[in-house]
Amino acid sequence: MTPLKVFYNSLGTPEMYAMIRSKMAADMTLVTLDTDEDAERRDKVAGCDVAIVAAKPLTGPTIAAGDRLRLIHHQGVGYHDTVDLAAARARGLRLALTPEGTTIGVAEHAVLLALAAARRVTFADAELRRGHWHVNALRPVSLELYGKTVGFVGFGRIGREAARRFAAFGTRTVFHDPGVADDAAHGAERRPLDWIAGNADLISIHVPLTEATRHLVDAAFIARMKPSAILVNTARGGVVDDAALAAALAEKRILAAGLDVFEGEPIGPDHPYCALPNVVLTPHISAGTRDALSHKMAAVFLNLERFRNGEPLANEVDLATA
Ligand code: NAD
Repeated sequence: MTPLKVFYNSLGTPEMYAMIRSKMAADMTLVTLDTDEDAERRDKVAGCDVAIVAAKPLTGPTIAAGDRLRLIHHQGVGYHDTVDLAAARARGLRLALTPEGTTIGVAEHAVLLALAAARRVTFADAELRRGHWHVNALRPVSLELYGKTVGFVGFGRIGREAARRFAAFGTRTVFHDPGVADDAAHGAERRPLDWIAGNADLISIHVPLTEATRHLVDAAFIARMKPSAILVNTARGGVVDDAALAAALAEKRILAAGLDVFEGEPIGPDHPYCALPNVVLTPHISAGTRDALSHKMAAVFLNLERFRNGEPLANEVDLATA
């Protein structure tokens, strides 16, 4: 069989690289980064057959430096903003995705952020460590999920898995997704985006970042939200207008938010969100569990076996129409 040289485009840790290598066939080589520098990416991608992409974008210059590249394998699904599609198309590269691992991890994280925001967990924890015992102060702003209407913006793989998990708390499910057929809605109620903005108690975002979804949650959307509503975004920074959301949270025009993704990642401690007690923040880790990495890599390397055997790939994206 043809040995494969596989370039890993994100900077990981030695433990993470060891986990990835444990899923590889013995005659595949994983080429990893020691720094987060684009110059090292261009050096190391040269001579590799495949590039694995995670949250760090695979740019045009890196694709151009990959003289032997034939396949880009995303280890998740959000390729719209992480792969330079024009450069990949121009080179005639193929692209495959990995829903395995991703879907459950993100769905669980959406529930985690919703509960953490509803109960102000990170604020209460930080305060307790500083000697402030808020046994009563949070009662007026702390919520349960039971009986609430959860609005999903995007009802694909992750939105639907998240809905199943929220439903276990006794919530009502409504969604907006023009791409979902009624028979795939599984009892969830379809609603216009404006209705969701104005009526849902909790709004969870699960759309890709495209020109059509950029700032889908903008100042006007947020202005329609109830003062008691919570926004959760585990999809992509850029779908939410961060400046508009930070202003609404600071002015208590909505109750709280739980955010895993941001415009301009990574954000630093001077970001407006960091001064707000009513927002829970995580650093783009929704799909970043040990379990997810294990499932993702098993699926990626199984697909790479198909690739070198000339078999059809699972979850291939047609770059001509993407
Ligand atoms: P999916 O393709 O199964 O579902 C996305 C859904 O969004 C589709 O059903 C589509 O019709 C819908 N959609 C597109 N444009 C829309 C619009 N304007 N309004 C409403 N709905 C719209 O994808 P998925 O597996 O559910 O993943 C969703 C997104 O989650 C990914 O594109 C990615 O950006 C993000 N994601 C984030 C992380 C993370 O670590 N935070 C991890 C994985 C995926």
